[in-house]
Amino acid sequence: MAIIGNEKYQELCVYLQQKGAALIAVSKLKSVADIRALYDRGQRDFGENYVQELLEKQPLLPKDIRWHFIGHLQRNKVKLIAPFVSVIHGVDSLRLLAEISAQAAKVGRTIDCLIQVHIADEETKFGLDEKEAIELMEHVAARPDAFGHVRIRGLMGMASFSEDANKVRAEFAALRALYHVIGQAYFLGKPYYDMLSMGMSGDYELALEEGSTHVRIGSLLFGERPSQ
Ligand SMILES: *Cc1c(COP(=O)(O)O)cnc(C)c1O
Repeated sequence: MAIIGNEKYQELCVYLQQKGAALIAVSKLKSVADIRALYDRGQRDFGENYVQELLEKQPLLPKDIRWHFIGHLQRNKVKLIAPFVSVIHGVDSLRLLAEISAQAAKVGRTIDCLIQVHIADEETKFGLDEKEAIELMEHVAARPDAFGHVRIRGLMGMASFSEDANKVRAEFAALRALYHVIGQAYFLGKPYYDMLSMGMSGDYELALEEGSTHVRIGSLLFGERPSQ
């Protein structure tokens, strides 16, 4: 299926700029040619979900792309993406965060990370609940040297797949509230704490109304994905 027309893409960019949000183009299961086409229009932030797929595409594409890993990341695969990944959105355990820091140290980098918070009512989605997210922050604050090569920039979440806009909005609002609570508690005076990653093709407008700073949009840009 074809990628979005240039006019529509530019319109979306202008709209997001007005809202003060950045666009992450989610290119999972999409070809290098499709990514390149969007790159040629100026897009630099791309999101991928699968390590193997990212490892295949990354060497074939320009080096100034910022790759956002937005899928579920297994600890044993962190080392594969540590040399080049820009932001890891799905951090949902202390052990994963520690491994990211260890692998980043090995390649002389500091990797930006987001804590994934479970805001939907669906069982299948990954992420911490609010209490667990705060516990994680407590551990990180208590042992900063164990996490010296990661920089937590904010939170990421996915709302329920629901037609009920009020429900989706309430989930995004809860994530924004937690983002501010954690910011006040652990990141005062730290301007790098600036990412609230929420909103996808079906719900990005609601997410923006609730304060999203980064929307992760796939099918709206690249067309429907093949079912796996
Ligand atoms: C696939 C995916 C997206 C993009 O989904 P679309 O509905 O195609 O916009 C966003 N975030 C995550 C975590 C995803 O896995």
